[in-house]
Amino acid sequence: MAENTRIEWATHTWTPIVGCDAVSPACAKCYAALMAARLESMGQEKYRGVAVRVGNVGKWTGKVTFWEPDLVKPLTVRKPGRWFLTSMGDVAHDLVTDAQLAELFGVMAVAGAAGPFHREQDGVTERGGWTSSDGAWVPAKWPNMLSGPHTFLVLTKRVDRLADLLLGHSFRRMVSEAAYRWAHNRTTAGAIADSILPPWSDFRGEASGCWPMRNVFIGCTAEDQEQADLRRAGMQRIAAAGWQTFASYEPALGPVNWGGWQFLRQLISGGESGWKARPSHPDWYRGARDFAEAHGIAYLHKQNGEWVSVSEVAGPGAHHHFPDGATVRRVGKKAAGRLLDGRTHDGFPEVAHA
Ligand code: SF4
Repeated sequence: MAENTRIEWATHTWTPIVGCDAVSPACAKCYAALMAARLESMGQEKYRGVAVRVGNVGKWTGKVTFWEPDLVKPLTVRKPGRWFLTSMGDVAHDLVTDAQLAELFGVMAVAGAAGPFHREQDGVTERGGWTSSDGAWVPAKWPNMLSGPHTFLVLTKRVDRLADLLLGHSFRRMVSEAAYRWAHNRTTAGAIADSILPPWSDFRGEASGCWPMRNVFIGCTAEDQEQADLRRAGMQRIAAAGWQTFASYEPALGPVNWGGWQFLRQLISGGESGWKARPSHPDWYRGARDFAEAHGIAYLHKQNGEWVSVSEVAGPGAHHHFPDGATVRRVGKKAAGRLLDGRTHDGFPEVAHA
């Protein structure tokens, strides 16, 4: 079964990669490490040995597991959804091989290819199969081919590696070959594989029907100015190659000047939650919101974390004073909610599937 999720920006999480190690300040309270340790203690084999619990926090051990049984999950879910890859690690971690990443993109290509899996007959569209060479209608193997397509949100803090792969010819070839295998039939598989990497002899690597993949958004975390600056060039390369991109300003740990990020399709913000969660200044969210609105970027504010401005929820308890005089109060994630200046922000970019 697919894993449904309470994450506000996705309908499912897809976690074929578990395990990681810290790369930036946002990792200090890594929720995934704590969750992985908990899931192992509940007997889930997939999480064996990747993390341990130390007091109230989780610590990665350095082991990263690529869990092959999970690869097929999106293809087994018929209803189109928005999938987050991955909430339990980092897709571009250096212990994830190029071949493993190519399998993931191959699955995403097949799960995004609703178009090829149907035929028109007597004015009626029949979905979920293909016509074989003898004219027989052959049902598609995976439930997702009956309705598809899924959309995927691929999030990393290791942008440069992903940029190098997505812009390189050999990775594209590996994805094309993986998609061929996952599509599981000669006619459609060949069409999908060729739409990723055209077989023409004069092909020089330009965009094609399924590359960049229209159902895949590539995103990075940008929790403060330093990390945003470190990751912007890589994201810009990916966007310039035609990929749709998003940034996750979560947890917002400092102000960010978003100048230069106009290429984004979506900007997501949110606060930190959990034990000793660090507070975010409401102006940091406002800066992200105003930038997104000024540049036609879909803006989604997930939640305020544990803290909220005293102007919105006054009362006793822990207060944090920012240098400019703004004060936030720790009220817990539920009470802090997800309103920003009295309203929710649920912007999603439109997806033009193949
Ligand atoms: S990159 Fe993500 S999963 Fe990895 S340590 Fe940082 S927060 Fe945790």
